[in-house]
Amino acid sequence: MSRILCSECQAALSTHAEACRECGYPVMARGQPASPTDKETVPASLKEYRLMQLAGIGLSCAGFLAVLADALVFAGVSVTVGIGTYMTGLLGAWWNSTE
Ligand SMILES: [Zn+2]
Repeated sequence: MSRILCSECQAALSTHAEACRECGYPVMARGQPASPTDKETVPASLKEYRLMQLAGIGLSCAGFLAVLADALVFAGVSVTVGIGTYMTGLLGAWWNSTE
């Protein structure tokens, strides 16, 4: 009869034992991969989309300020990214609220 060691207290156990007789630690059934964490894809919360909208508005404002400062390349990038972020947040919030 083959024996295994308890992974908790190292006591010798029968491979047919369901749990350690010394400490009660459950013996893993062989061929059964331990994967307790099946991660579900958690959708971003409404709060996160609101934050995205705020970040987008902030970026756009920075872009418009950059126009005044004649930093046109920075302004273009800021406004484009800002509006994109804002729209993503807006769509995300809308999508969340309709569910
Ligand atoms: Zn044990």
